[in-house]
Amino acid sequence: MYRGVKILHDPVRNKGTAYTDAEREFLSLRGLLPPRVHSPAEQELRVLNNVRQKATDLERYLYLISLQDRNETLFYRVIMNHLEEMMPIIYTPTVGKACQEFQHIFRQPRGFYVSLQDKGEVKKILQNWPHKECKIIVVTDGERILGLGDLGADGMGIPIGKLSLYTACSGIHPTHCMPVMLDVGTNNESLLNDPLYNGLERRRVRGEQYDELVDEFVAAANELFPGVLIQLEDFGNMNAFRLLEKYRNQVCMFDDDIQGTGGVAMAGIIAALRITGAKLENQKFLFLGAGEAGIGIADVFVAALAEKGIPTDEARGHCWFVDSRGLVVHGRENLADHKKPYAHDHEYLDNFLDAVKALKPTAILGLSGQPQMFTKDVVEAMSEINQRPIIFALSNPTSKAECTAEQAYTWSDGRAIFASGSPFDPVKYNHQMFVPGQGNNAYIFPGVGLGAIVSRSRVVTDEMFLVAAHSLANQVTEHDLERGRVYPSLSRIREVSAKIAYDVARIVFDRGYSLTDEPDDLMTEIRDYMYQPVYPHYA
Ligand code: NAD
Repeated sequence: MYRGVKILHDPVRNKGTAYTDAEREFLSLRGLLPPRVHSPAEQELRVLNNVRQKATDLERYLYLISLQDRNETLFYRVIMNHLEEMMPIIYTPTVGKACQEFQHIFRQPRGFYVSLQDKGEVKKILQNWPHKECKIIVVTDGERILGLGDLGADGMGIPIGKLSLYTACSGIHPTHCMPVMLDVGTNNESLLNDPLYNGLERRRVRGEQYDELVDEFVAAANELFPGVLIQLEDFGNMNAFRLLEKYRNQVCMFDDDIQGTGGVAMAGIIAALRITGAKLENQKFLFLGAGEAGIGIADVFVAALAEKGIPTDEARGHCWFVDSRGLVVHGRENLADHKKPYAHDHEYLDNFLDAVKALKPTAILGLSGQPQMFTKDVVEAMSEINQRPIIFALSNPTSKAECTAEQAYTWSDGRAIFASGSPFDPVKYNHQMFVPGQGNNAYIFPGVGLGAIVSRSRVVTDEMFLVAAHSLANQVTEHDLERGRVYPSLSRIREVSAKIAYDVARIVFDRGYSLTDEPDDLMTEIRDYMYQPVYPHYA
């Protein structure tokens, strides 16, 4: 083991002022640190004071990322002990702002870049990764970063942030995580014209060359890190569905924008049905937005109805979509492939309110990225059709939500079961306090990932997301439901993720997907794996 200043510059081993006197002697650190030894709690306090004093969230983000580069243990201690406060900084919405500014705020590289220039040598360069074990890769090509469009190589902030959430929410060890940017160019003119842009100075490559690079990367990653879990993140529609279809049965891979969203929204629906007492097979969903998120939710719902013996075609008939051009129906021209399974026989309608009135859904789900599309008329129509209308305004960030929590409760006279993508404060209406649930994917992907990793699964299936959805919904307490809240408190996320991981791993072993033998005590195995942000002792 190395000593002296080198260990202070290693974020995995650095303890900063928390090295004890004995450790300072043993590691040749005397004189290199101020004399007073601080406890981790004191260090945490200093970080919190700093974060809270910053003027903007972007400055908070920069401070926290610098801390991650200096002292990973302290970074995770702060994030985990203050998850509700820190999550919007290290992930959406602030990470979006950080990606937009990436070329200007760049300080220290993090993650791994595979570009078109590396074609034919991907395996060779992957060997430069500093950690021996890699259990999970989050990869993007930067084409559709959050709702912000093509940010090219500057989208790297997303895999970095997502993997920080894996560690914080379900204890995947930081050194087992690899954020990857596949740089295939960008069509973002302002980036191409910016001399500080970090990515390739070229427009996006499509077709064969693109596919060959992705193939090479997936193969090389599996050769060097057998069975590694690969999560696709923020790919454009034209590649996301296609890549998932291509690889999902070959390697351990999923797409969080599609399947993770499916799992978290499904959990909210299952919990909502615990309030209404209605059955899943009697639900009719009307989606606003037929992109990765909407289709992903519908696919998980279809999997849920399949469990009840309902054939796929019939199950798809429970899901209707309105996109930017109106109701998705049979015969509509130029429908994208991913929408076709959900194009049903019906007269074409060009607006959402008419679709609500004609189809009489039990739930409306907003995944359009367009604010205020659930108008007063829409919510009132839903409340006429249903005693307890389910209204999920899932578009992010808060400014894009299809309606606010207050609007949903007020316009439905307190009857709506509401959830959103971004957090809303509790709402007081008619002397009653409503607590809106936040359908954050962070409730699902960390637990599914942990379950797949501990069980060494060969694949990630839709069934695993459905199981995760049931597991999450079952962990919503009666107290939560009484206040209209369909997701548990984020403060319980580690315990919730461990249970989801257990339920997912059970499926892996029961279905024979595992590359290893089942441990004697699965829950202990999961808990033992989970990383804790505690300093090692060196002396
Ligand atoms: P996407 O680009 O794949 O899909 C967007 C869809 O919205 C497209 O089908 C588009 O046709 C449709 N659309 C655009 N304008 C419309 C309009 N005026 N009326 C009707 N439809 C319209 O994006 P995505 O990944 O599916 O994400 C969509 C939204 O969902 C984003 O705001 C994202 O933040 C949110 N989201 C939320 C969660 C969550 O809450 N857990 C998870 C994933 C995505």
